[in-house]
Amino acid sequence: MVEITNTDERAVDADRISELPEHILHHILCLLHWPMDIARTSILSKKWKVIWESFMSFVFDFDQRRFQSSKAADKWDHIQPLPVEKQSSIFKQVFEESLGGIELPLIRKFILFVENTIATRLDPLPSIQKFRLHVFFSVDLLTPFMNHWISVATDKNVNELDIYAKMDGKFYMLPQVVFVSSTITSLKLYGCGVGDSAVIKLQNLRELSMKSMRINDKIVHNFVQGCPLIEDMRLINCYGLRLLHVSSLPKLNRFAVHERSSLRSVKLEATNLEMFWFHGKKSSRCKLILAGCGNLKHLTLKHARMADKSFQENISYFPLLEMLFLLQCHALQRITILSDKLKKLSLVRCHKLKEANIDAPNLLSFEYTGTELPLSSMNASRLQEVKLHVKSQKQKFHPFELQKFIAGFDGKGFKLFLASRQDVNIYEELRGLHLLHSRVYKIELTKSARMLENLLNSHLRDFHPKTLTFMTSPISDLLVFIQEKILKKEKTPSCCKYYSKKCWRHYLEDVKLFEFSSAASAVNPSMSLELKWSASPLPLPEDVEITEAY
Ligand SMILES: [Zn+2]
Repeated sequence: MVEITNTDERAVDADRISELPEHILHHILCLLHWPMDIARTSILSKKWKVIWESFMSFVFDFDQRRFQSSKAADKWDHIQPLPVEKQSSIFKQVFEESLGGIELPLIRKFILFVENTIATRLDPLPSIQKFRLHVFFSVDLLTPFMNHWISVATDKNVNELDIYAKMDGKFYMLPQVVFVSSTITSLKLYGCGVGDSAVIKLQNLRELSMKSMRINDKIVHNFVQGCPLIEDMRLINCYGLRLLHVSSLPKLNRFAVHERSSLRSVKLEATNLEMFWFHGKKSSRCKLILAGCGNLKHLTLKHARMADKSFQENISYFPLLEMLFLLQCHALQRITILSDKLKKLSLVRCHKLKEANIDAPNLLSFEYTGTELPLSSMNASRLQEVKLHVKSQKQKFHPFELQKFIAGFDGKGFKLFLASRQDVNIYEELRGLHLLHSRVYKIELTKSARMLENLLNSHLRDFHPKTLTFMTSPISDLLVFIQEKILKKEKTPSCCKYYSKKCWRHYLEDVKLFEFSSAASAVNPSMSLELKWSASPLPLPEDVEITEAY
């Protein structure tokens, strides 16, 4: 009885969300980050489909790429100018004048499409949720229209404005109306320029992204001063930045910088910052000063010139750090990481790293990609997953070094996955393990049986190894996988029927099984499979039938 009541309550709870007023449901959709997630709500129920449709009627997306191909020319053939009384003044002034004599039918169609949609669908609305404009060709010709369209969107109290303007060597200068809107909460810009004298006052802006833009230190300063509610700021491959200093953004939570021109320093003072990404150029001399970010939880650094001292100094400011990702930090040689909060650590292609001392008792996941294993000491008793990838042709992992590293995980319930292009070795028990081969590519340690299956599955997808060797326990789930997926494989697998790209099972021609026993396998049966692969996928059952029928 109790259970039934609980279920009923849950059902009522689920309904309560759907019963909320439409504007609140629209707000829920706004909070979803990805367009795909928003679209997915439309399949929840009929009610959500209606909500989604009404929400989408406030979203305007104009993408010039849809007017790109020669096929598009026919598709948009029907578009004609509206009657004169419905045309915008900019259209009457500019359209025939600047585009009348030019043979650019697709640009003309694109302009007509946007003009017509604005006049018929957008104009009648009191306000709009999102306005996205993606242009990549003849920005010069389009500039007067873009200025007009953007001002229509800001007049309609747009919440999310997304302008992508790509052209060679020039930047589309954004009109002033963009920077003084009180309703914009998200501003995403690509390839645009901001005038030095632009007055910036976006009092409700939460999300700012500027990519491949021409900006400068003063413009960033003006954004910081004029947009006090920014929570998420991304400056990706922007030209013109030298000193990037950000303070006085009390709500700043995420910050990303990808260096394009030569940054001299990035100085952040943001007490609520939890995530920071820095991707420097190969030649970067940028100094990172992050002392004022004591609450940082996720840190990603790609900085080829950052020295040990600078790294150690910065890392000491983050007592709450939970995730650290160091990518291509080629100047690092010796690092020490002491943290009782760190859960995830990735060291990827830091080529000069010789020594890493890690004392992180709560670390759950460790990933390393490189040529040598630099771990000098590792105290991480709660580790669940370890990934080691050898990405070099030379494959310098020394068996002894590796053996020593793996021995540290003995008796803690880890399973080992060792793989190269040719061989896969899986050990469900590490005791008595002696590694013979040093030519390994991928070494993973995991406690989860399901993960082991996933690893094997994805390795077979990427490579077609000749041998698989297993040291399993008699009750292993992996034996079921081997039985069902490999040994009992149908001659012509019926999976992937509707996919053009077939899974590995369609390439597997023949399997030979060798069971053998060794000293260690009295309890743990060992088996070795020899696999023969076909170069192209084996025919599907229907194909076989068709061939037979004829
Ligand atoms: Zn398949």
